[in-house]
Amino acid sequence: MSPQSEEAVVLDGITVRYGKGGSAVTAVEDVSLTVRAGEFVVLVGPSGCGKTTLLRIVAGFERATSGTGVVQGAPAAPGRGTGIVFQQPRLFPWRTVGGNIGFALARHGVPRAERPARIASLLDRVGLGGTAGRRTWELSGGQQQRVAIARALAAEPQVLLMDEPFAALDALTRERLQEEVRALAASLGTTVLFVTHSAEEAVLLGTRVLVMAADPGRIVAEVDVDLTRDSATDPAALRGSAEFARLRGELADIMREAATAA
Ligand code: ADP
Ligand code: MG
Repeated sequence: MSPQSEEAVVLDGITVRYGKGGSAVTAVEDVSLTVRAGEFVVLVGPSGCGKTTLLRIVAGFERATSGTGVVQGAPAAPGRGTGIVFQQPRLFPWRTVGGNIGFALARHGVPRAERPARIASLLDRVGLGGTAGRRTWELSGGQQQRVAIARALAAEPQVLLMDEPFAALDALTRERLQEEVRALAASLGTTVLFVTHSAEEAVLLGTRVLVMAADPGRIVAEVDVDLTRDSATDPAALRGSAEFARLRGELADIMREAATAA
């Protein structure tokens, strides 16, 4: 592997300011971070600390006021090496499940004849085999979010960006999807940059957690997570383990401190 590809995401001195003069808001200030290939990095922090802004920089949807964003060795740009999943599935209601994924495949340049097989395999991967012909509004919220994950994977991104993807789901569905995404990332080896404000979710999913504070948005702490990623481990046992409780408590304490930091 080249040194370039070992660093999947590099943000260097990112500052994003909205507006001008007295009403200007500094969304994030001088944020630098590196995500190595294969890492599952979680950004946590209170609402308004700039988590979404940082993901938008990596996705190439937003330009920094200063600083640079590099993905897989090239300046961050839309569709270049990244796929994104938002809090809401944002599917096209006038297309079928398969049609939504087919649209992403078409944009990625996959020939029409190859799309049905690719759609089927992507849906299998997120546990939705056989649903290609369904209407998106016939699916539950959790199923719709699975379609959104399949759509994000359609372009075979090296880096998967997820912005509070489970925040709108009920607790049980959320747990299931957490476990599925954890297993999916481990099996695909995809690099993930994931945003949440849940300490539990961060510890369960992340290999490393970056804690942010607001006003201005910045990274104030980093926690390494060494929970097993062995797919044979029972997720319920993992959640019930003393190690999990310890890490979650430690992170929650750091997050509380960060939230009150000036
Ligand atoms: P988070 O995702 O952590 O909740 P955001 O990145 O959405 O935070 O926002 C960070 C800060 O930037 C907030 O104060 C927010 O109000 C502000 N902000 C975000 N987007 C815009 C925008 N397009 N125009 C003005 N202010 C914005
Ligand atoms: Mg946000």
